[in-house]
Amino acid sequence: MFQVSCAACNASFEYNVEDYIHLCPYCSTGFVLDLDEGAKDIIGDHFIVPNRLDREQVEGIFFDWISERYHRPERVKNEFKILGSYGISLPYWVISAEAHTFWSGHSQKANQYTGQSAEYGSKFLKEDGRFSRRYRWSILGRKSPKEHWGLERLHHPKEGVMVDWDGYPLDETLGAVKGGAPGTVYDARQAFKFDHANGLTISGVQVKESSAIARAKDQIQEFHRRIAKTKVGTLYEHRTEIEIVGIHLVHLPFWVVRYSFAPKSPFRFMTTARERRLLVQGHTLAVLDAELPLSNSDKVMSNLLVCGSLAVLSLALSLFLHPLFFLMVIIFSAVCILSAWKIFGREKPDSDLGRGSELSEPAF
Ligand SMILES: [Zn+2]
Repeated sequence: MFQVSCAACNASFEYNVEDYIHLCPYCSTGFVLDLDEGAKDIIGDHFIVPNRLDREQVEGIFFDWISERYHRPERVKNEFKILGSYGISLPYWVISAEAHTFWSGHSQKANQYTGQSAEYGSKFLKEDGRFSRRYRWSILGRKSPKEHWGLERLHHPKEGVMVDWDGYPLDETLGAVKGGAPGTVYDARQAFKFDHANGLTISGVQVKESSAIARAKDQIQEFHRRIAKTKVGTLYEHRTEIEIVGIHLVHLPFWVVRYSFAPKSPFRFMTTARERRLLVQGHTLAVLDAELPLSNSDKVMSNLLVCGSLAVLSLALSLFLHPLFFLMVIIFSAVCILSAWKIFGREKPDSDLGRGSELSEPAF
């Protein structure tokens, strides 16, 4: 076991070799330890957003959420079962940045005037522009975003831009605070104290601020390139300059709920009995991500069964009633084959099914 003494209060405590920043459990000071020289560097801007949930409340949020979505809300308590839930306070590097993008490209002209030359170049319009945005970009301070389910991609930008990274602008991603003071989750931050986790385990900080800044810059670059692409038909050139204004450390509370769905109707034969999950923000109480009770495969499976029975029925009709019914046999069989291909052909690459499989629930 490794012991370290706190840089502020001198109390000694055990530390995790994986951690980059050590958090004193007695006085809540955070510091970086230089193992070669033994020097301790206390970090300054260190905050925590208080957790406002306990297990009972988070389960209440789950039942409210599913009741709004399930077509028979009165059956929700019978057909949905909570398998478990836990909360965790996770460290994020919050990088304040300003990003300025210049772009240029060509768009197809909407209107062609009569008499205008139809030569190739004149159908296109050269366009350029610039835009600037300000962010508090969040980068998870843990080495793996797969440690807990749902954290891999929380950014749902307002414009139709596809995002496939785990960082996000803090203010617009985690929901508005429900039943609390107006403002964003960031406004609710307090100077870091273990007490504000309100019972949650606080995960250690494994990622250095320099790598957090590098990743934030990469993600903002890519985000702005994709925004620029939405502005013009063919993007030829783009340039984004990013100015880092500041960086600090914020711990944010999250809850994961695991549930199962067992309908009390014949439909139960068509659903796959597997665990589904829900991610709730521990301060804003917003549902950030969820696996729906019915996956696409379930819907296609019921399609397969219905069309399969219709194909058999049409076959009987074509034999005993009229040969024209054979046409329907062909149509229904085609739908069956397509459905089967959709289910079995896509089973393996469906990343959502395997998402978060490395999750291990912390013991309490
Ligand atoms: Zn201390």
